[in-house]
Amino acid sequence: MTLPEFPAEPSRQFQGTMPPSLRVAYKAYVIRHYRRFLLAINFIAMAAYDSYVLADALLIPDMAKESLLLRTALSLIGLLNIFLVFRFSRSVLAMDLLMPVHDIISTLAWFELLKRSASPDVPFFLYASVVFILLGNLGVRYSFKGIALISAIISAIILYNVWLIHDGAAKPVLIFTLVYLPVALFSLFISWTNIRGVRQAFLADQEERRQRSELASLNLRLQELASTDALTGVGNRRALDTQLNASWDGMRAHGRPFALLLVDIDYFKPYNDHFGHQTGDRCLCRVAESLVGSLRGGRASVYRYGGEEFVVLLETGSVDDLRRVAERLREQVASLNIEHLHRPDALRHLTISLGAAMANEEGLNQPLDLLARCDQRLYCAKQTGRNRVQLSSPPTG
Ligand code: GH3
Ligand code: MG
Ligand code: MG
Repeated sequence: MTLPEFPAEPSRQFQGTMPPSLRVAYKAYVIRHYRRFLLAINFIAMAAYDSYVLADALLIPDMAKESLLLRTALSLIGLLNIFLVFRFSRSVLAMDLLMPVHDIISTLAWFELLKRSASPDVPFFLYASVVFILLGNLGVRYSFKGIALISAIISAIILYNVWLIHDGAAKPVLIFTLVYLPVALFSLFISWTNIRGVRQAFLADQEERRQRSELASLNLRLQELASTDALTGVGNRRALDTQLNASWDGMRAHGRPFALLLVDIDYFKPYNDHFGHQTGDRCLCRVAESLVGSLRGGRASVYRYGGEEFVVLLETGSVDDLRRVAERLREQVASLNIEHLHRPDALRHLTISLGAAMANEEGLNQPLDLLARCDQRLYCAKQTGRNRVQLSSPPTG
């Protein structure tokens, strides 16, 4: 059996946009792994925003009261939004961009305070606005396009307000821009690498899942192969041993009764010698098929014990039931009407003999005893004419 080849490293497979077939899984992955991070970043950003009330009190003292009111009001709205989005929405985009959207509103609000203040420290305090772009850019994990757009909006708000506050004077606006832009671009780059890392982790996770499920199905197939008889497709000797032990344990532990039937084709050697091995093989397959076909219903399983012998394990607690099933199997095979002109008795078609026993009969101490008892009875069936079912042991002595 050849093992399938796994594709090359997954991160190299999708460098562009996420394939549509993976989008739903990707959203679920981000929510599973980053929901807590995104929730935490909302609170951290809010706490940072609120802490600036102290800086406001020191640098724009004439706006201290307004700052406190504004920050408190915005925080309450923020809390409500966080609750609504993280409690009720399943949109990963809303979770990812909630904080940056709050960032836009906070930026606008802060500039309103600065513009209204008469403090001489305003031009110096303006530089604190880089915090808005840093918080926005570093706190996202899902949408780079989204944060790029929000970054552009925040930058436009900041630069426009700086320009307004300086009454359009070129030099201070230029100096501010020279300080501001590298920080904005740098944090945007970090945001891009963060999101790329999330995508690669997701693709690696997908690949690992695919390999795991492929391995699981290969394992299943291997188990099937290891327990199936290659010629007839019924269970093999290994499967019989396993099931027989399990049924034996089930009977001992839970009182679940069962019976065993040993089936042997009559005069198969002359059949084989005359028609050849290949025809003999086809005949074995037909007999196996017939046994399986007569036992549909799930309470019996068929195994090839070796050569032209089969074993049937039947879940039953009744000897009458066992007799009925055994007779049916014998009749079914006979009714296949496979011509067998080379047997020494009077019959002219292929038949089987069966030796069977209930697992809970006296004197059986282990699964091998049950097999040995069936074998004895099969021998008896052979001795007493073949094409028969033997369910009791011949008297000894
Ligand atoms: P009895 O009625 O006493 O069982 O006689 P028999 O001829 O069936 O029994 P014996 O054990 O002498 O012969 C079994 C034959 O089964 C021997 C061999 O030719 C044949 N046989 C065993 N395994 C295979 C197999 O895998 N394929 C084929 N074609 N024949 C097999
Ligand atoms: Mg035999
Ligand atoms: Mg035989």
